[in-house]
Amino acid sequence: METLLTFFFFLMGLIFGSFFNVVGLRLPKNIPFANDRSICLNCKHQLTWYENIPLLSYAIQGAKCRHCKASISYIYPAIELLTGVLFAISYVKIGFNPELVTAILLMSMLIIILVTDIKYMLIPNKVLLFFFPLLLIMRVIVPFDPWWSAAAGCLTGALVIAVIILISRGGMGGGDMKLFGVIGLVLGVKEVLLAFFLSCMIGAIIGIALLSLKIISRKQPVPFGPYIVVGTIITYFYGDFLIDWYFNFS
Ligand SMILES: [Zn+2]
Repeated sequence: METLLTFFFFLMGLIFGSFFNVVGLRLPKNIPFANDRSICLNCKHQLTWYENIPLLSYAIQGAKCRHCKASISYIYPAIELLTGVLFAISYVKIGFNPELVTAILLMSMLIIILVTDIKYMLIPNKVLLFFFPLLLIMRVIVPFDPWWSAAAGCLTGALVIAVIILISRGGMGGGDMKLFGVIGLVLGVKEVLLAFFLSCMIGAIIGIALLSLKIISRKQPVPFGPYIVVGTIITYFYGDFLIDWYFNFS
């Protein structure tokens, strides 16, 4: 039963991930996504249901459009797979508990932001405004001990980034600040600091690697959103463990 449910959450993640791709690509350009069929971005051919199956269509069609043979970015199946894995981990780590709703909402928001930040280098307000009230309600239903840690986390998250924006002048933007506010609400005050620390560390390691491999140049702007996403996911699932480990060994 447990395995079956884990697989069910994985499948749901694949389907939602496919939807998040569409939302992330269309929302910043104000293209409606609700009742509109997906099209090939190259030849505008409308995709049939069997050209639109998460992961499978991509694999069967050999990463190409069936009509114009334009290659399809690996980002799409990667986002689908990632969402599937994150939904499955959410279920395995949390089980059937109201917090599972928070986990699914948080993962969904982060995946959409991953798409918009990679594609357009922006974190749309609309995405944050959609998820913030839902996550706030969930933090009232499943409060922290002490309860005010969520409010303090929200303020701390936004403030830390505000300071970085003032110091670095262009390293991070207003979108990152608002995003960290929402993340702070979900993680609480202690863990939002850990998420920030991890995001910076991951960003620095990958940034140095990309620079030394000459994949990016020093002047090229790099979106910080993906590092925030990874840092937050690690903190959400393993933050308690990491904080305990740190304080027991220092
Ligand atoms: Zn095509």
